[in-house]
Amino acid sequence: NEGLTIAQAQEMALAVADKIIDSEPILSQADRDLGDGDHGLGMARGFTALKKELTGTSFDNLRDLYQTAGNALLTTMGGASGVVFGSLFLAGGKTMHGADCFGSHELSHLLNQSLKDVMGRGGAKPGDKTMIDALAPAAEAAKANIDQPLAVSIKAVAAAAEAGKEDSKDMIATMGRAKTLGEKTLGLPDAGAISVTFILETMDAYING
Ligand code: ADP
Ligand code: MG
Ligand code: MG
Repeated sequence: NEGLTIAQAQEMALAVADKIIDSEPILSQADRDLGDGDHGLGMARGFTALKKELTGTSFDNLRDLYQTAGNALLTTMGGASGVVFGSLFLAGGKTMHGADCFGSHELSHLLNQSLKDVMGRGGAKPGDKTMIDALAPAAEAAKANIDQPLAVSIKAVAAAAEAGKEDSKDMIATMGRAKTLGEKTLGLPDAGAISVTFILETMDAYING
């Protein structure tokens, strides 16, 4: 079996939390360029709460793990991005049921459910210069690699997110605060797309590291 155990998936979520907390200045700067500058602080607050909920707890299945993680983000980050990044982990809770192994199928179901939920709730589409521009290609790569080992699929997923984040530089924001900046947003990547890329790259580093 090539997937992660529940304990490993938990350790991976804690590694993701540390990466996001350490990246607070980068994420804040990216949001300062295009938005209101609070993305790094919001993410750090959410992932600090996630760490607190996951540290020292043991989970019986992946659903409980991802539900706990998603609720920690949703309830502490607040606002649009709390729903958006909460959805990412809550989608894991929705799709994994009693699973005890995190493999390529679980990865694909998590990303594709989360894409569906974020687009359904927030109304943004690919090309609007949001985190969806990293999440959508990542979800597609996960689907394309669903029958590959997790080490292969997560690498493709992280690379797709990174490429999508780079593509977001060429997009004009049509949602949120960045909308008022219009063409001034050209050349800079979306802050939330950077967060998605960091999350998936940290998962890749954990799995392949
Ligand atoms: P806020 O916009 O409330 O200040 P943050 O700064 O924490 O929240 O998060 C901003 C990020 O959230 C954006 O860079 C974008 O990626 C993401 N985002 C905002 N609105 C949406 C939406 N409707 N759908 C998807 N992502 C969104
Ligand atoms: Mg902001
Ligand atoms: Mg704000």
